[in-house]
Amino acid sequence: MVHLSVVVPCFNEAEVIDAFHTALLSVLEPTGQTFEICYVDDGSSDSTLGRLRQFATDDPRVRFTSFSRNFGKEPAMLAGLRMTAGDAVVLLDADLQHPPELIPRMLELHSSGYDQVIAQRDRTGEGAVRSALSRAYYRLVRRCMDVEVVDGAGDFRLLSRRAVDSVLSLPETNRFSKGIFSWIGFDSISFTYQNVERVAGESKWGGRRLLNYGVDGLLSFNSRPLRLAIHTGLCLFLSGCLYAGWIIVNDVINGVDTPGYTTLLTTIVALCGIQLATLGVIGEYVGRIYHESKRRPHYVVRETDNRPAAPLPAGPGLEPTTGSQPAP
Ligand code: UDP
Ligand code: MG
Repeated sequence: MVHLSVVVPCFNEAEVIDAFHTALLSVLEPTGQTFEICYVDDGSSDSTLGRLRQFATDDPRVRFTSFSRNFGKEPAMLAGLRMTAGDAVVLLDADLQHPPELIPRMLELHSSGYDQVIAQRDRTGEGAVRSALSRAYYRLVRRCMDVEVVDGAGDFRLLSRRAVDSVLSLPETNRFSKGIFSWIGFDSISFTYQNVERVAGESKWGGRRLLNYGVDGLLSFNSRPLRLAIHTGLCLFLSGCLYAGWIIVNDVINGVDTPGYTTLLTTIVALCGIQLATLGVIGEYVGRIYHESKRRPHYVVRETDNRPAAPLPAGPGLEPTTGSQPAP
């Protein structure tokens, strides 16, 4: 029985993957625990896959899965989690921004009974604008969302076997891990570490990708934006009624005034804006329903040396198919 599994999603990480692999082994070996490393190549266009293949050939403790194209970090983490067999699973970025040296501490906390051990980064060295925007975002998310999401608590965490099984039992297509990890519950503990810069290569999260991820996060765990639209609509309707009442009373008392465009125009513009925004919100949800209803697999595997996975615990409506096929 493997004690620890490490899941590493990699997308165009050829520049750092060697340094990362060496660093990871130099941390895992002294722990004296049995371990396995599950790499997922997320459709890299550089030599990442070649390197992973080499690691796997050289070392039976290393396995990999490669996607047919870039599917994103969320599907890559899912594929990695499906590969694992360990009692505990650590999710780690390949760029050394998640220091492997923290793993022994995570294991220690896990052995004292925690199902989730979260390494939370501070914001050292991050651009002022990005840091301010993230902070504002988390404040918003915390007010809107039905699950708790903590600033700086990302995907760098240790999960117990039962936590991983719960994560895998959620069948949704649109996956927002931060929300999912929080949704499954269990006892968790977090500790802070100092943020480090990427060792080499560059971040794959441009402004637009980050924004889309943010919207995903906001919408995937609640329907509050819809309710907000209803409340705004009702407020506007009420104030419209009051205003109409006031005009009628005014007309009766003072006689008909010259009707002005201004009021009319303002009202129309405001209402149109609100309606469009509301339609947009509804459209987002309809789009999500559409995507979920297609029930497509989360990713397509190009190549893997993964042995057939143990059957998944049957979650509601989950078929043990999507993408985790063994090697041909
Ligand atoms: N990653 C991935 N698929 C993607 C984008 C990123 O598997 O489409 C991986 C990437 O190789 C890295 C981790 O996700 O191991 C975090 O990515 P990155 O460092 O670009 O994000 P940041 O640290 O800037 O948030
Ligand atoms: Mg990074």
